[in-house]
Amino acid sequence: MQDCIFCKVVAGELPTKTLYEDDDVMAFADISPQAPVHALVVPKNHLGTVEDLGPDDLAVVAHMIHAAQRLARKLGVSASGYRLVINTGADATQTVPHLHMHLLGGRPLEPKLG
Ligand code: AMP
Ligand code: ZN
Repeated sequence: MQDCIFCKVVAGELPTKTLYEDDDVMAFADISPQAPVHALVVPKNHLGTVEDLGPDDLAVVAHMIHAAQRLARKLGVSASGYRLVINTGADATQTVPHLHMHLLGGRPLEPKLG
């Protein structure tokens, strides 16, 4: 999608640190990390938000979680724990309208959800 930051990352048009990649999803380091481990897992094909998901998109969401699990192992936080977050819409402060899952870990995270 034109003018979508994460479509540009997927296309290799923006510099990024790729941490994981397969046919359907990609993970890269967050540009403004909030924890020692902060990666973003995105579908390669543009999807907007959780609100845009239809029945045909469910496999890619499961795929994103599986990629996050593999990445957590690679980054060494499987045993210590991590948080997967998908911000959706304004109140959740979603800033990039391309579906993405934050993988956060490497330190104790606040117990609060919001
Ligand atoms: P959200 O608030 O859930 O929409 O999160 C968007 C995230 O994307 C933020 O944590 C940003 O730091 C991150 N971000 C924005 N642009 C880039 C980029 N070019 N490369 C990596 N991360 C980015
Ligand atoms: Zn996009």
